[in-house]
Amino acid sequence: MKYISTRGQAPATDFAGACLAGLAPDGGLYVPESFPKIAPPAPGEAYAGVAARILSAFAGDTIPLDDLKVLCARAYGTFSHQCVAPLTQSGPNAWLLELHHGPTLAFKDIAMQIIAQIYDYLLDRSGERMMIVCATSGDTGGAAAAAFAGARHADLVILHPHERISPIQRLFMTTTGADNVINLALDGDFDDCQAIVKDMFGDRDFVSRVHLSGVNSINWARVAAQSVYYATSQAALGGQLRFVVPSGNMGDALAGYVAARCGLLPGGFEAVCAVNENDALSRLFNTGVMSRASAVATPSPAMDISVPSNFERLLFEVTGRDADAVRTTYDRYRQAGEVPLPEVAVSRLSCTGLSAGSINNSDTLEEMRRFLGETGWLICPHTAVGTAEARRLPASDAKTVVLATAAAAKFPETVEEATGQLPVVPARAAVLAARGEVFERLEPSLAAVRQRIEQHAGRGR
Ligand SMILES: *Cc1c(COP(=O)(O)O)cnc(C)c1O
Repeated sequence: MKYISTRGQAPATDFAGACLAGLAPDGGLYVPESFPKIAPPAPGEAYAGVAARILSAFAGDTIPLDDLKVLCARAYGTFSHQCVAPLTQSGPNAWLLELHHGPTLAFKDIAMQIIAQIYDYLLDRSGERMMIVCATSGDTGGAAAAAFAGARHADLVILHPHERISPIQRLFMTTTGADNVINLALDGDFDDCQAIVKDMFGDRDFVSRVHLSGVNSINWARVAAQSVYYATSQAALGGQLRFVVPSGNMGDALAGYVAARCGLLPGGFEAVCAVNENDALSRLFNTGVMSRASAVATPSPAMDISVPSNFERLLFEVTGRDADAVRTTYDRYRQAGEVPLPEVAVSRLSCTGLSAGSINNSDTLEEMRRFLGETGWLICPHTAVGTAEARRLPASDAKTVVLATAAAAKFPETVEEATGQLPVVPARAAVLAARGEVFERLEPSLAAVRQRIEQHAGRGR
């Protein structure tokens, strides 16, 4: 299985190359040269086994199926629910797909746990060591720390904005006790952290010297790993499903599209991306224009995204895999801040099964109250954006499945504000508070972060 770039100017690579590189060298995103046909899960097939089969189709010759089975068993053995991504019924024809039973209580664990296993496996084979850098506004950093803590062949450096993430989010990153995880608390905001990481990757010399890699939401292995729970949901519920996906960078929703393209959703594919007041994605779908707007803070911070990065993969598909059209669109967007999508893309977009809608802040909080009244359950603000969007959709015979992307316990302040109740913290998270936190404060400059990374890379040489 070869991987090609959506911008058409990078050499094709294999699964290992696409995973370890993240972004393609031409600035594009890796996609498989063609979508493999994968058999839907058999009745009773365990989650880790389905995951191994699906990842094997994407890995091709790079990793034998038997090895992937071992890696998936390890990755998903860390979850507190044996089904990994169980479905619970929330209404007459509605379900929640619970993606928050991993170590850090958010769906990022599902991809990150297996990515860490795959990285360590590939690096063990090649005899390399990698320095993984990630900027986080909350969930990604914790998931990466939990997954990479103790990895034998990779170090992880997390940049987070000091005192701008919630206490529980910080605990997940800072209490791993692993000496291959470095937490840098920068005196700035998330955009500062992200800009530093981006500049660091722009310095090719530094990248190759310290062996830098990223695990952000454009990594193909994340998309592949997330397509698994669409397949298991379809197998469990049967019939025609309508997924509602709380969305930021659109990695999660794109994974549903990929599952459909691989034949994993025989009931047909329909998915609605639910976004918060940062509505770039819903403007893309509903106006056909890509336009820049800076991100605003909302009750669902993991979705405060101004440019949904995975949309590029969908654009590649709906232009008929026209890399020149994709490159031109993004070049014009970078220069002008606004660009209409190619005409052919706009008409084909409406045939993908994907659509998008936006929910404002007060409706999100109102939804958390209403959902509690209807089911007795507390949901996280991201999930509430999804259930609020589901409520607005026209009636349908399809079973509605809202992706519950985080546990309420991860956002206690917002849950209490909306409902007056404090969510119960699961035991696995509660024990963290007793551990000592380890993080280093640093000025938000490229030079300071680089120096710290060089120092770590040079350790023991
Ligand atoms: C990351 C995240 C999202 C958004 O997922 P994308 O793949 O970026 O669209 C939604 N909810 C939660 C809780 C998240 O952590």
